[in-house]
Amino acid sequence: MYTQPQLNYSFSDLEPHIDARTMEIHYGKHHKTYIDKYNAAVEKYPELAAKSLEEVIANLSAVPEDIRGAVKNNGCQSWNHSFFWTMMKKNGGGEPTGALADAITASFGDFEAFKKKFSDSALAVFGSGWTWLVSNNGKLEILNTSNEATPLTQGMKPIMVLDVWEHAYYLNYQNRRADYIAAWWNVLDWESIARNV
Ligand code: MN
Repeated sequence: MYTQPQLNYSFSDLEPHIDARTMEIHYGKHHKTYIDKYNAAVEKYPELAAKSLEEVIANLSAVPEDIRGAVKNNGCQSWNHSFFWTMMKKNGGGEPTGALADAITASFGDFEAFKKKFSDSALAVFGSGWTWLVSNNGKLEILNTSNEATPLTQGMKPIMVLDVWEHAYYLNYQNRRADYIAAWWNVLDWESIARNV
């Protein structure tokens, strides 16, 4: 069974960049529903329910076929959102320091170039998905995934993620995904993100 992690901030702490109502529905309804559905799927297989979420989604071929689709969709979405919440904090923003800053400079030239490349990538997601900064065999890369797909199960180490499903921004930004992406940089918790390197 998987328990939804608590947020380190309140729903209104990310305003005006991410509004409280969006956070309330995103965390309290969307994410909670993925977790509830994941738990409901694994419930009838005690040996599966006893494993960590990461273990289960990393080894989907071992999941019984009758629940594999539900476990994949809801399990990956559960993990992606739990990770996404740790990207942000009250009074966030600015730039990374230390090893993460050095790695970004080495891979992308400078922080502004990285920010533009990541933002352009997020804007280019067609339909529902996620934009990631990952370490792929020690090399930093930006990539997009569709729907529930997660680089965690593709042999890569996720460092940073942005949710670009419409439910993440539609209440406040409607079709203006570019504005949501631009605002998101103002709530980032670089100390938390740096712990993923
Ligand atoms: Mn979402």
